[in-house]
This record gives sequence, structure tokens and C-alpha cells, in this order.
Amino acid sequence: MRAACVAARSAGQRVGFVPTMGALHAGHLALVREARTRADWAATSIFVNPTQFGPNEDFSKYPRDLDGDVAKLEGCDAVFAPEPNAMYVPGDETRVHVGALAASLCGPHRPGHFEGVCTVVTKLFGIVGACTAVFGKKDYQQLAIIRRMVADLFLPVTVVGSPIIREPDGLAMSSRNAYLSADERKRALALSWGLAAATRAFEGGERRAGALRDAANALVTPAATSIDYVTIADPDSLVPFESHVKVGERALLAVAVRVGATRLIDNVVLGEDPSPVG
Ligand code: AMP
Repeated sequence: MRAACVAARSAGQRVGFVPTMGALHAGHLALVREARTRADWAATSIFVNPTQFGPNEDFSKYPRDLDGDVAKLEGCDAVFAPEPNAMYVPGDETRVHVGALAASLCGPHRPGHFEGVCTVVTKLFGIVGACTAVFGKKDYQQLAIIRRMVADLFLPVTVVGSPIIREPDGLAMSSRNAYLSADERKRALALSWGLAAATRAFEGGERRAGALRDAANALVTPAATSIDYVTIADPDSLVPFESHVKVGERALLAVAVRVGATRLIDNVVLGEDPSPVG
């Protein structure tokens, strides 16, 4: 992989890179298209990274379909799909510690998750080298943390955030949607509807964080099996707004819930993004 990336750069090509865990859907393929518009040569990695899963999470049952994925990556010049022991060789012990950006939202609910993400992304960047790397806004906190990491560690990478791709009915695409039963799939729509309700309230002038949260919760709570968070936060620092979103400011509304046993996340930046549901 490193040799291919070096060769592309030596030939004067700009390298684009899309890290994924596979089970590719249209959301991933939009990132690949974005990489293609910004680079001359594009690579995708497919790696279900063990260090970003907690002990009770779905690492072993995470969907894997390498042949199907490769078939979907026609527009890509290289696919990198290493084995776990190639990314974590015997004796491996270095981890990338993440600071305050991991203190809110998913951080407290998934201890060690962002450390695992940053560690594997740093390893991947080390292999790929100078590139433009495209990440989805679906994982908003991940994108913010990786931007910070690239700046803090002087990595030779330009990070690009790409919009959330949704099913026609509004559900954010996710490899984990495959876990949902037909009934859970219907209930999962409440996430995007909740975000849309809060977007309407924001557009109508509502700036009280509690009221914006309530607007989302009214739809999300009845559909969710459990709620990790429904949070209004500063889109840059990810610190939750205590009382009001200041006039003229944007606000991140992020949700993480379980529908059945499946953990789903979604978000919208109020004052910036269009409503997630038409
Ligand atoms: P994953 O395979 O879930 O680790 O995701 C790989 C990349 O695809 C990450 O940058 C995600 O944010 C991005 N991604 C996943 N789902 C979507 C989606 N529905 N829309 C846009 N990007 C997505």
C-alpha cells in the first residue's frame, strides 16, 4: 500500500484516501467520489479495527463482506484490507491519546473508542502518507477529533468532511442498519424525524437548548430502547450548551440511541445543515 501511494505521488498524482470498516453502502461510496474530485488517485481501506470496540460491543459480529466491497469500489485505484495482526504486530503498544474533544457525546459511553480510532487512523496515515483523507459527518465527533489530531501531530494530511448520506426516508446510512429487524427499521426513523423537528424549532427562532432537545426527544424517546444521549453542543468544542444557543451561533444536535440491540447515531448542525428530512 505504501509503495502504491509513493508511486502515485512520484508520478505527480494527488492521493485521496477513505478509511472505512467495510460493509460498504452509498454513504461510503459518496466519500470515495468526494476523494476522487479532490485527488487524482484514490485508495480506500477496509479494516474492522479491534481497538475501537469495547469488550461488550459488536466487533466479532460486525458485518464483513470483502468481495462485495471490492466490487463496489470500481472508482477506486487501490483497496487496502489488512489483517488485524498486520496493523497490530506483536509488541505493538503505542496508542494515540485524545483530549477534551472525547469528553462529551460518545466518549463517556464508549471508553477507549476514540483512542482506538485515532491510533488506527494514525497507522493508516503513516502507511498512505501525504494525502487528502475524506471522513463522513455522520461520525461528527470522530471527524472533529481527527481534524484536531492531524493539526496537533503535524500529519501531512488534508482532512475533508463529507455530508451525511441518508436513505430516501431519512434514515442515515450505516453498516449497522443491517442489524435492524423490520420493526426496528421503522422505529429507527425517529432519529432523523427528531433531528428534523429540532431543526424546525431552531428555524422558528427557538434557542433554548432544553427546548431544542425536547423537540428531538419527543420523537426519539418513544422509539428508542435506550438513549445514550440527545445533546445540543458547540459544533467546534463539542461542549454541551447549558442554557441557550447564542444568537448567530450554530449548534450541533447529536443523538445516540439503541433501537433493539443496535446502537445508532445521527446528528445535524442547526443553523448550517439542511433539515435531515425534506
Ligand atoms: P465506517 O465504515 O462506519 O467506519 O465509516 C467509514 C467512513 O464512512 C467514516 O468517515 C464515516 O463517517 C463515513 N460514513 C458512514 N456512514 C455514512 C453516511 N451515512 N454518510 C456519510 N458518511 C458516512
